[in-house]
Amino acid sequence: MGKLFSINNYNEIKEIFHDKGLKCTPQRQAVLKVLQESKGYLSISKIHRNVKELLPGTGLATVYRSLETLIELNLVVKVHLEDGCHSYAVAPKGHRHPIVCTDCNRVIDYTECPMEDLSKKLTKDTGILIQNHFLQLFGTCKQCQT
Ligand SMILES: [Zn+2]
Ligand SMILES: [Zn+2]
Repeated sequence: MGKLFSINNYNEIKEIFHDKGLKCTPQRQAVLKVLQESKGYLSISKIHRNVKELLPGTGLATVYRSLETLIELNLVVKVHLEDGCHSYAVAPKGHRHPIVCTDCNRVIDYTECPMEDLSKKLTKDTGILIQNHFLQLFGTCKQCQT
């Protein structure tokens, strides 16, 4: 199958799937494209609605499974919201932390990691070797402050 959607780094993405022995199916591509075109995070129902515009007849379960696969491949991140719900966004490149604007739902990537020193301290204090962390911040973006 040829290039279905104009994802900028399509070849790179195909490679990521290939490395894990997974197929870059049209559904998975569509889910990724929908998220790439959104500026912030999207709920699963919104993703489903937009995917159906690209691939009519795609079921919610397929969208859900595609998201799980994309998360596994580090292409998508689950964004945890204040109300306990979660949504999805394209994973930032490299090690970054998402800051979610609670007014306009935009996701801003914070490139610095404040956790490195803390991880070292935790290892020293608890003996646990910290291997990974998930840090997400909430706030009000500049535009929403005015
Ligand atoms: Zn905002
Ligand atoms: Zn970090």
